[in-house]
Parts: sequence; C-alpha cells; structure tokens
Amino acid sequence: MKFDITPLLRPHIVNLLPYTSARDEYTGKEGIFLDANENPYGSVTDEDYNRYPDPYQLELKAEIAEIKNVKSSQIFLGNGSDEAIDLLFRAFCNPGKDNVILLPPTYGMYEVSAGINDVETRKIPLTADFQLQTDKILGATDEHTKIIFVCSPNNPSGNKVNREDILRLLQEFKGLVVVDEAYIDFSDEPSFTNYINDYGNLLVMQTFSKAWGLASLRLGMAFASKQMIKVLNRIKPPYNISGLTQQTVLAAVRNVAKVNAMIADMLQEREYLRKEMTALDFVEKIYPSHANFLLVKIPNASHVYDDLIEEKIIVRNRSKVQLCEECLRISVGTRPENEAFLQALKKIYTESFNL
Ligand SMILES: *Cc1c(COP(=O)(O)O)cnc(C)c1O
Repeated sequence: MKFDITPLLRPHIVNLLPYTSARDEYTGKEGIFLDANENPYGSVTDEDYNRYPDPYQLELKAEIAEIKNVKSSQIFLGNGSDEAIDLLFRAFCNPGKDNVILLPPTYGMYEVSAGINDVETRKIPLTADFQLQTDKILGATDEHTKIIFVCSPNNPSGNKVNREDILRLLQEFKGLVVVDEAYIDFSDEPSFTNYINDYGNLLVMQTFSKAWGLASLRLGMAFASKQMIKVLNRIKPPYNISGLTQQTVLAAVRNVAKVNAMIADMLQEREYLRKEMTALDFVEKIYPSHANFLLVKIPNASHVYDDLIEEKIIVRNRSKVQLCEECLRISVGTRPENEAFLQALKKIYTESFNL
C-alpha cells in the first residue's frame, strides 16, 4: 500500500465494531421482510417510505462514479458535506490533543466542527490575493496535525487556489489534505478527484447543494482512497441518506444536461453582475470569481447590507472577516433578481451616501 492511513486514525476507531443493520445482512430486494420492525402496510403519506433505505447508496454511487470518473468504492455520501467534515474529525482527531490547519478567510464549518469535537485549530491566513502561504502552513504542522482544510474555489473569496501549492501540501504533509470543491462546477479548473489514486492522504469534497440545486435534500460527496472511504462508512450513522434523497438524486444525475444548462446560465449571470457592478464608480473592487458568487468591496459595506435588507434583498456581510474588510458576498441570482439588486444598490448609494 502506497499510503496507509491507519497510523493517523484515533486508536479506538481502528478497532471499532460498527453497527450492522438488518439490511447489511441480506441485500436482496425480493422477499418477505420481517427483519427491521417496519410498517408492512405502507406509509401514512401518498408515497410509500416504510422501508429503510440502502445504507451504502450503491445504485446512486454507481451513477456518480460514471459522471465523476471514479470507482464506487472511492465515494462516500453524507447528509451534506457537513456530515463528512464532522466524521473526519471524529475518525482522525483526538479531542484536546490533535490539531487541524485552517486557511482563513474560508468556509465556517471547519472551525465549528473542530470546536464541537474539541480539536485545536491553527490558522494560517491566505495571502492578499487569497492564495496559500505554503511554507508557513507546513511550518505550522507537527506530529499532532491531522488535517489541512483547503477550499478551492474558496468561499468567500471565489478564487481558485493554485494547484501546485495544493500538490505540494499533498506531497510534504503526512496527514490528510481535504480539498473542498463545493464550487468546482463553476470553475474551469479540473477537479482534484483526478489525484485520489495518486495520494492516499487526499480527500475531495463536493456537494449537490450548489450547482445541482438540491441544497434542501442535504447530499454531500467525498472522494478518496478505498481505505479512507471504508473508515467513513464504518463510523457514519447507518441510514444517513434518506430513500427520498437517494431516489431524487438518482433522477438528477441521469439528467446531466440540465445541470450543465443551469451552470451555463449562472456563469452568464455572474458575468452580467460583474460588468454592471464594474460600471458603478462606488464599487472599489470585484474579486475574480470561479464560483456562483462575487466578493465585492464597497464603502460602508455594513450600512449597505442593512439598507439592502430594508429592500428585502439579502446578501452576505463579510465586512468583519479578516482580508474581506468592507466586502459583501453576493450570490448570483436570476436576471430579474440581479436587476433588482443592482437597482437597490444604486438607490442606496445615491440616497444615503450622496455619491
Ligand atoms: C456551500 C458549501 C458546502 C456545502 O455544504 P453542504 O453541507 O453539502 O450543503 C461545502 N463547502 C463549502 C465551502 C460551501 O460553501
């Protein structure tokens, strides 16, 4: 084996005896099922949901494997990416002893999940153009550093992280490198899933919440070596993905044409928003985006944020975040939504700030 993750695992996880569900022991679909204490008549609802779902989502994973060009055994599905993040902490990080490296400004869940699991975070800020300080990151690691979280394209800055820097972390860091690609569908950058056969310490996260338009269903993907996926499967709640989600997403992944069309529309709208905002002289900076949002620097950002809410337009106020001072993060909407936002923004500046 090229890279064995066993020494990185918490010792009790190595020897853990997982729950075996009724549907682990018999996987056939035909039969009289008197094994799981389900309701045999059906459901109270019009549709039937009375049977427990496939704990390993094999039908869905077979389709995802096709479109992502990986093996089924290299896929973990979680109740949102957030579940995968939490499971990584629980599998690898001993509370009060181990640490992880975060690269702010970035997605907030890494820190929250570390906090819940009582794991120390070491923060190495990104550079002014939101790239990695690779030397400093590697310098901050020690024998208790288990995970480095890299988000690319990064939230909230929207840029892609230099590929060579991530590859260097994979080569020189002996713990796990998580590459969160929640926004990869909006980028021209190839996915790091291409490297999961080369680096046993790599885990790539993607999600159905953004480009696929399925945020409410809660389905996140993790791609890694078979050995790593096995660990996550051993510690996850047995039926973490509902049958309704599995069926609905199965239909979605068989309609790749639709997601591609929606991505094309969102990219076009991102460009429209960028152009329109560039023309406004009070806009100081629009950061280059490989995601479905724009980070925009404007004077009085917090006031503008409040005034936008008065107009029932809700954006994300990032103005108190390190390296994002005076910035708002604006998700790309539909054309009428974007027009309403632009109009409100212009009104706020002319009326409130006399610019
Ligand atoms: C939105 C987002 C996710 C998605 O999380 P889900 O739990 O799958 O909805 C993951 N990572 C980042 C950086 C995000 O911005």
